[in-house]
Amino acid sequence: MLKSAVFKPIAAISFLMLANAAQVCAFTCDAGYRFSFGKTVDGTLIDFAYSGARGPEHWASLAPKGKWAMCDEGERQAPIAISPRGAIAAQIGIDFHYSQDIHFVDHSDALGADHGGGNYIVIDGTRYDLIQIHYHQPAETILNGHTYPLELHLVHRSAAGVLAVVGVFIEKGRADKGILSLPGNPRLAAEPVIIKASSLLPARRSFFRFNGSLTTPGCDQPVLFNVMEHPIQMSSEQIAAFACGIENSARPVQKLNRRFVLYGAKP
Ligand SMILES: [Zn+2]
Repeated sequence: MLKSAVFKPIAAISFLMLANAAQVCAFTCDAGYRFSFGKTVDGTLIDFAYSGARGPEHWASLAPKGKWAMCDEGERQAPIAISPRGAIAAQIGIDFHYSQDIHFVDHSDALGADHGGGNYIVIDGTRYDLIQIHYHQPAETILNGHTYPLELHLVHRSAAGVLAVVGVFIEKGRADKGILSLPGNPRLAAEPVIIKASSLLPARRSFFRFNGSLTTPGCDQPVLFNVMEHPIQMSSEQIAAFACGIENSARPVQKLNRRFVLYGAKP
């Protein structure tokens, strides 16, 4: 169903990269800086990590009263390893309405109306508003055995409270012109990053869809998970900026169990 050629990185780095590189100031991630992962449960902030005693295999027991039990017990967890050959071609789509600039403050930041509100997607007639973006380094979703350097998660929510995540792989290449500023040193929280939302999507919009979950505690499910087949590109400096402090923040892939992965080819 899928041609192998689509998984090859786009080769040539043109003079455009040099031109774009001049638009952003130099970024250096402070050695030792680590973003603090945590979520509030019943008014208490609970830290979690990607290794050690608070790592993924312990997430379910970190919160009281089994509030994060789904991390162990959920049967439709994300991320997963996607095998394109095993995906079922279907008449499915996502209508993107990304017209507003995003002011990205840090990896846990909610996108309020004053910085990024107004972007939304429509799936099967239902509108899902973009409420948060964050990155994982390396990518969490494994596609055709390949792990990309970075994966962006665009988190959306419908009026009824249903979550829909769009995952976008990022590979090293040309600078993304839609990233209008990079964070100041040392951390993303210091200054907001301004991004044209539409620049976070690949030109070719084919994607994989499955029933999944949040990939962070409490691993809530269901989440309508959509992973774009084609990556976008960023410069090394842009990738370094977004990965600053979140190195090794990928939850291991979860069992597929009795799930199908659908493939939507954009006509
Ligand atoms: Zn995520």
